Amino acid sequence: NSFLELNLSRPLLKACESLGYHKPTPIQAACVPLALTGRDICASALTGSGKTAAFALPVLERLLFRPKRIHAIRVLILTPSRELAVQVHSMIERLSQFTDIRCCLIVGGLSSKVQEATLRSMPEIVVATPGRIIDHLRNSQSVGLEDLAVLILDEADRLLELGFSSEIQELVRMCPKGRQTMLFSATMTEEVDQLVKLSLNKPIRLEA
Ligand code: AMP
Repeated sequence: NSFLELNLSRPLLKACESLGYHKPTPIQAACVPLALTGRDICASALTGSGKTAAFALPVLERLLFRPKRIHAIRVLILTPSRELAVQVHSMIERLSQFTDIRCCLIVGGLSSKVQEATLRSMPEIVVATPGRIIDHLRNSQSVGLEDLAVLILDEADRLLELGFSSEIQELVRMCPKGRQTMLFSATMTEEVDQLVKLSLNKPIRLEA
């Protein structure tokens, strides 16, 4: 039960080590190998379970072997709040510190102009709240989700509680059909199940 067993590349193992992670949490041990196969995942996981690294590590591993010629958003991570987006972004920055992968934060309360320029510089990973990213995608000719490889819905129950259902549906429609989708939720309500049906393809269910 060590990170060495998760088939991650050297720069990611080094980052885990520098963060003081000695062994994967249960959700990481279950999620990382499955996510690396490309399957869709629906996970019940609480904050504090290590769920952020559980989806971030396989995403980073995939991007390490990406074709360099694709300059587009490859991974979109949707979170219910600005605070959670900031935390997820900072965790990804730390896990990707020994790579050249770029991650940006698109949330309300920051300058739209600056964020538009950031998006046009084509970061591979975007961590966003639904309202703000949808404004950018609706208004921009140059930035889209056509090349998206992975969509992550973090704290799906809270995303729905906060009324983001129609924004999420619109974003899902903008994503390519062949993408991988991972959904994390503290509770599995009927609404979350409907979102799973809408946005995931034969998901594997995990609990942690
Ligand atoms: P999360 O559930 O993603 O919000 O993570 C909760 C906390 O656990 C964060 O402070 C992480 O830095 C920490 N954490 C995540 N994975 C591990 C691990 N494998 N070993 C020790 N701490 C971890």
